[in-house]
Amino acid sequence: MNTMVDLPDWIRRPARTPSPARGRVALVGAGPGDPELLTLRAVRLLRDADAVVYDALVAPEVLDFVAPHAERLYAGKRSSQHSMPQRDINALLVRLAREGKRVVRLKGGDPFIFGRGGEEIETLAAEGIEFEVVPGVTAACGVSSYAGIPLTHRDHAQSCLFVTGHLKEGSADLDWPALVRERQTVVIYMGLSALPSICAQLVGHGQRADMPAAVVQQGTLPEQRVVTGTLADLPRKVAAAGLRSPCLTIVGEVVRLHGRLAWFDPVGATLPAAAFGA
Ligand code: SAH
Repeated sequence: MNTMVDLPDWIRRPARTPSPARGRVALVGAGPGDPELLTLRAVRLLRDADAVVYDALVAPEVLDFVAPHAERLYAGKRSSQHSMPQRDINALLVRLAREGKRVVRLKGGDPFIFGRGGEEIETLAAEGIEFEVVPGVTAACGVSSYAGIPLTHRDHAQSCLFVTGHLKEGSADLDWPALVRERQTVVIYMGLSALPSICAQLVGHGQRADMPAAVVQQGTLPEQRVVTGTLADLPRKVAAAGLRSPCLTIVGEVVRLHGRLAWFDPVGATLPAAAFGA
């Protein structure tokens, strides 16, 4: 049975009417991977864009919404190899907007969460270029949902911290006492290579060695893999499983719920971009 409904008229119209004579930039969150987690606004702006500047973490299917005539420019970055320096990306956005283009700067997840989105629009603001920001489903939310790990739960966690495990001079420089509080979930972005040191630091700062923790690789995508354990044994299990970036680490009692609440079947997952009729 075909259950597809027609999209309402308002979503078919261009994002801004009439289209501005001057160029503008939309800083758009692409979500964590599954293209169906894009916002309607993201889809509309992608469809109307003259140029799209995108990152490594953006799923290829998301670009199916871009019109064939639009320029597609890759500005991907990985922590070990910066393919385009940040200042060049900022300058590129300014140049494209000055050419009168409707530019979409597409970033994985949410542009304001560990995405340097703030830096990019500071340049646009300084240059007097019109911009908007479209939020996306950040990895912590998308990945935890698809892994069946509620980040808060009345019985287990009343707060949740998002931190980066990105290494600076070989170690993650974090506020460890804040990370080991009771009844709190900690979500660590970019923490795969520092995982052994992060787990050791948490235990060293008073966290229980048997505190449940999980690492989720490529959450929300058909390649999703979830490895669960405790702070004591997770690094070994993750190494044995050979997980690859991007990975998100979740630490807290809520991880126990994964056993009962995991619902996403990565093997059976299909990429549904065509449902939008793009
Ligand atoms: N702005 C993005 C985060 C960029 S930092 C957001 O809001 O989600 C990049 C890090 O995000 C990765 O190293 C990884 O820790 C995490 N991440 C992004 N997508 C992910 C995914 N599908 N699965 C697991 N981790 C992901």
